[in-house]
Formats: sequence, C-alpha cells, structure tokens
Amino acid sequence: MTPDVATLIDVVATRIGSHAEELTELDSAIGDADHGLNMKRGFDAVLADKAQIAGKPLPEALRAIGMALVMKVGGASGPLYGTLFMTLGKELPPEPGVPELARAMKASVDALKQRGKADFGNKTMLDVLGPVADRLSHAPITFDDLRSTAKDAAAKTVPMKAIRGRASFLGDRSIGHMDPGARSSELIIEAVCDVLEGKS
Ligand code: ADP
Ligand code: MG
Repeated sequence: MTPDVATLIDVVATRIGSHAEELTELDSAIGDADHGLNMKRGFDAVLADKAQIAGKPLPEALRAIGMALVMKVGGASGPLYGTLFMTLGKELPPEPGVPELARAMKASVDALKQRGKADFGNKTMLDVLGPVADRLSHAPITFDDLRSTAKDAAAKTVPMKAIRGRASFLGDRSIGHMDPGARSSELIIEAVCDVLEGKS
C-alpha cells in the first residue's frame, strides 16, 4: 500500500486549496479566520518542493512534509500537523501495510496529544485523527470505512465545547460550530484514501 508520494502531495494540496475558504470560514466562527490560509500556505510550500520530496523513500518524504508544514503553516496547527507527519515518517517502514499504518497513526496521535497538551473531546483535530487511528487498528477495514469515520468524527465536534486552542477562549459560544482543524484533518484523510484507492 505504498502511495506514490508525488500524487499524494498533488491531491492533498489541491484538496486543501479548494477548501481553503471553507476552512477559513469555520475558523472565523470560533477562531481568527486564518486556518484555510495557513493550511494552503503550508501545502503550497510542500507542492513547490514536490520533486525533491517525492524523490525520497516514504519515511523521509513524510518527515520533509512535516518540516515544511512546521515552517510554513504557522498558527497552532502548523507545529501540530508537523508533528503528525514527522512522527508518521519516523514510525512507518518504506512499504507499510495496514498494521504498520495503524501503529504509526497511534504513535502520531500520542505525539500530537503531548505537543498540544490536549486530549480527545477537546474539540480539535485530535477528535478526527484519534478515531481514524482507532478504526485502522480494527481490521478488516475499507477505504469507505476510513472516510466515513473521519466525516462522522468531524461532525461530532459541532456540539463539543472547545477546551484547547483559540476556540476555548469562547467557552460555551464555541458550541454549535465544526472545529476547523477537525475538518482539515477529515479532508486530508479523504484525500489520502482517494490516492491509496486509486481514485485520484
Ligand atoms: P490558530 O488557532 O493559531 O489560529 P489555526 O487556525 O491554523 O491556528 O488552527 C486551529 C486548529 O488547530 C483548531 O481548529 C484545532 O483543531 C487545532 N488546535 C489548536 N490547538 C490545539 C491543541 N492544543 N491540540 C490539538 N489541536 C489544536
Ligand atoms: Mg486560526
């Protein structure tokens, strides 16, 4: 299940770019209206470096993507997505199967929790990445299972009250809106599933 890294970068960057306005809109409700811009800037930088990154084996490519995101996304989400991709790069073998992916996702979610001092239920990207990591560890799974896990998990952030990140400043007023980082994680998971399944 080794993805073609160049395709992966193209598809994820395009997906984030075409939803940048939506992500910024979500962030304008409970944050500072920059999540779409931040994510687009980060993945545009990855895209600009595509040839170099895609020439590396999967683990090194993921680490390079993580570094670019840390440097370019900014905001709270930059170091967190950076941690996610860098930990995936550290944990994954060059040609992973589902068990390796499950283990690496769990390690990345744990690293992200530590980095952001956050937990599940805090209304963050963790509320999508955690359920996806969990679903991966319960075989058998299909790509549609993973896509619907991510979609349902993002929707479940709507009634949550934010405990971490900028949205937490709003207290109860953060209730009733989808978390922007949860939505961007859903978009990334969907895009990766599309690539691995050969739909993109
Ligand atoms: P900023 O909040 O600095 O403007 P962004 O708007 O780019 O950064 O990202 C906001 C997203 O980052 C939130 O929607 C949330 O999913 C995620 N986030 C913020 N703080 C944390 C944290 N401590 N742990 C996990 N995710 C977080
Ligand atoms: Mg923001």
